[in-house]
Amino acid sequence: MLFGRKNKNPIKLVDHGVKEWKYTTCGYCSTGCSIEVGLNEKGEAVTSRGVDNADVNRGKLCLKGIFEHELFRSDGRGQVPLVRDKRYDEFKPASWDDALDKVSSEINRIQQQHGRDAFAIVSTGQIMTEEFYTLGKLARGVIGTNNYDGNTTLCMASAVSGYKRSFGSDGPPGCYDDFEHTECLLAIGSNLPEQHPIIFWRLRQALEKRKFPIIVVDPRVTMFAQMADMHLAIKPGTDVVLLNALAHVILKEGLQDQAYIDAHTSGQDDFMQLVEQYDPYTASTICGIDEDTIRNVARLYAKAGAAMTIWTMGINQSTHGSDGVVGINNLNLITGNIGKPGGSSLSITGQCNAMGTREWSSCSGLPGYRALENEQDRKDIADYWGIDSEFFPKKRGLFQTDIFPAIETGQIKGMWLIATNPMTSMPNTARIRKTLEKLDFLVVQDAYEDVETNEYSHVYLPAAIWAEKEGCFTNTERRVNLIRNVVKPLAESKPDLWIFNQMATRFEQGRKIKFPENAKGVFNEMRELSKGRMLDYSGMTHEKIEQQRGIQWPCTDEKDEGTPRLYTDGKFQHADGKAKLIPLPFVDNNEKPDEEYPFWLNSGRVVEHFHTRTRTGKIGNLNKFSPTPYMEMNPDAAKELGIEHGSYARLISQRGDAIVMVQLTQRIAPNMVFVPFHFHECVNRLTLGLLDPHSRQPAFKQAAVRVEPASNQDVAAVRNKAARTY
Ligand code: SF4
Repeated sequence: MLFGRKNKNPIKLVDHGVKEWKYTTCGYCSTGCSIEVGLNEKGEAVTSRGVDNADVNRGKLCLKGIFEHELFRSDGRGQVPLVRDKRYDEFKPASWDDALDKVSSEINRIQQQHGRDAFAIVSTGQIMTEEFYTLGKLARGVIGTNNYDGNTTLCMASAVSGYKRSFGSDGPPGCYDDFEHTECLLAIGSNLPEQHPIIFWRLRQALEKRKFPIIVVDPRVTMFAQMADMHLAIKPGTDVVLLNALAHVILKEGLQDQAYIDAHTSGQDDFMQLVEQYDPYTASTICGIDEDTIRNVARLYAKAGAAMTIWTMGINQSTHGSDGVVGINNLNLITGNIGKPGGSSLSITGQCNAMGTREWSSCSGLPGYRALENEQDRKDIADYWGIDSEFFPKKRGLFQTDIFPAIETGQIKGMWLIATNPMTSMPNTARIRKTLEKLDFLVVQDAYEDVETNEYSHVYLPAAIWAEKEGCFTNTERRVNLIRNVVKPLAESKPDLWIFNQMATRFEQGRKIKFPENAKGVFNEMRELSKGRMLDYSGMTHEKIEQQRGIQWPCTDEKDEGTPRLYTDGKFQHADGKAKLIPLPFVDNNEKPDEEYPFWLNSGRVVEHFHTRTRTGKIGNLNKFSPTPYMEMNPDAAKELGIEHGSYARLISQRGDAIVMVQLTQRIAPNMVFVPFHFHECVNRLTLGLLDPHSRQPAFKQAAVRVEPASNQDVAAVRNKAARTY
C-alpha cells in the first residue's frame, strides 16, 4: 500500500553481513510467499526477506515469515533418535539404524498379530510434496495399512469434500488475481488479516485501485469484519441456512444466470425445491441475519459482473462443513461465478502444503487425485510402482478423527505420527491423552523433540526442518513453489524423505520398489504420473518453478507458464461433465449454550502464531506479541459475572476446564467467548469436536461453556503470568 504516495521508496534493511541469499518458500501458512534467506560468511542463516518479483507476495512477508530463519537454531529441536520401551521410561539416544529397525519390527509385529490395518499412520500438511508422495508409496505400497490419513482432516477436509461433491474433483478453481477483477467479495468464516496477512494485503492492493463491496460473515467482529462494508454476525454453525436463503432470493427474483445453470449444472430441480423452503424470514429466525440484509446481499452478489467467495475454518470446522462448501459452490454456480476472472469459490487453505498432501500423499486415495475405489486408478499406480494391484484396499480407510476412537476400541495398536501434534490440536485432549496411552507402540517423527505428543512415544525420530531440505509446496491457488535447501539439517536430524526411504528398505516389498534418493527424482515420477490429468505437473521442473517464482497447475509442457483458473470452459470432473447443484437441508445438531453452559465457545488463529506453536512458540519476537492464552469476552457479560479485564477466568465445558487471561472487548457478543487455538492445555480441553458426516472434520467452533472467576494463584494462572514476563 502506498498510502497516497506515488512512488515506492526502497526499504533500508539492517546490515546482517549477508554474503549470499538463497531462494525458498515460506513453511507456515498456505499463502505461499517466496522468501530469500540471507547467509553470513560462516553460512549461518541471519535474516529473511520477501522476494520482490514473486507474484504471490511481491516483496512482502508477514511477521512469521520475517523471523523464519530463526527456526534453524530454535530451542527444542531433536538432534538424535530416541528410544524407550515404556512411555514412562527415560528416552535413550539411539543410532538411526537401531531406531528405524525398532520401528519396522514393531510395525511387522503389530501387523502380523492384529492385521495390516492395526498400524495407523497420521501425517501432516507441513512436509514437501515429494515427501508426501514417498510416504504414500511407503504406506500404500509397502506397509499396506489402510488407516493412513493427514492432520489436514482438521483443517481442509470439508473443502476437499465440498469441491468433490460439487465439481467432481478437489482443486480450488480460483486465484489471488481474482481480487483484481471481482465486483463483490463475500468472506465467510475467514479472518484474512490475521490468518493470511499477505493474501489480505493482495486484496487491499486491489481495493486501492478499484472499490468493490466486501461482505464478511463471522459471529465475531474480527479485524476483517472491521474493514468490511457489511458485517453479518451470524449465529455459529448456521452458514448453510444463510447460503440457502441467498439462493432463494436470487432464484425468486430471477437474478440467476440461467444459461450457465442449463449448460453446466445438473440437479437444478431438486435444488430449487429445497431452497424454496429457505425464505429470508424463516432463515433469519435460524441464522440471526435479518431479512433485509439477506435480500441486499443476495442482490449485490447476483448483480455483480463477477463475484467471489472466500472462506476458511469458520466454514470447514463445523458439523456442516462440507455442506457449507457445497452451499458456496451452489451460490457461485447459479450466478455463473466459476472459472471466470473475479468469479470463484476459493478456499483459503491452512498449512503451507495442505494442498500437496491432498494432491500426492495418497491419504484419501492414490497419488495425483486417483481413487482407491477406481479399478483403473489402482492398476495404473500398481503397474507404475511394480506391485500387485490387489495389495491396495478397494476403498479408503479411517480418517484421522476416526483413527483415535479406533485406538480406544482396540482396533488400532500402533501409530506413526509425522509432523503433527494431536495432544494440542485435537478436540477433547483429555480423551486423546487416554487414547495415546493405550497404544502398544507410538513413533513420533518431528523436527522438535519437545512437541507435546512426544511425551507418549516409544521412538522419536528427529526430522530436518523446512529449508534444511529441498522440495515443493502447493499453495492456496494451486501454485507449486520451491523450497531450496538453505542450510544443513541440525545435528543428526534427517530430511523426512530420507527417513521414508530408509524405512522402505526394511520391508521386503520396499526393496522391490524404486524409491528415488532425492526430491528431483521423486518430482520426475510425479510429473509422469500427472501427465494428462487435471493436476498436470509435466511441464514443470524445479528450475522452472524457481525461475517463475511458482507455477499454478495444470502445466502441461515446457512452454506452459501455468493455469490461473480451473473450469474456464464450464466442463467439470463429474462423469457427465457438469457441476452438481446439491440440495442442503439444515440439521441443527451442534452443541449449543444452555442454562448450565451459557456461552458459545469460538476459537481461531492470532497473527503471531502458527498451529500448536511448535515452531512460533520458540521465536522470541513472536512470543513477545502473543505469549499466553487469553479469552475475548464482552464487557457487559463479564460485569454480570464479576470478571475484570486482565484477571483470570476458568472456562468449563462438559469435557474439561481451562484457565485463561480475560481481555474485555466489544468485538465479541455477550453470549460468546473467543480463545486462540494455539496453546497447549487450553481451548481443546474444552472442545467437543462433533464430526462432519462427509469430511469427518471436527466442529472446533461450536461448543458451550460457562465462565467463572479464577484465582491468580491457580497453577495455570501463575504459569500464564510467568509466560508474560518473556
Ligand atoms: S503470509 Fe503465510 S506464507 Fe506469507 S510470510 Fe506469512 S506465514 Fe509465510
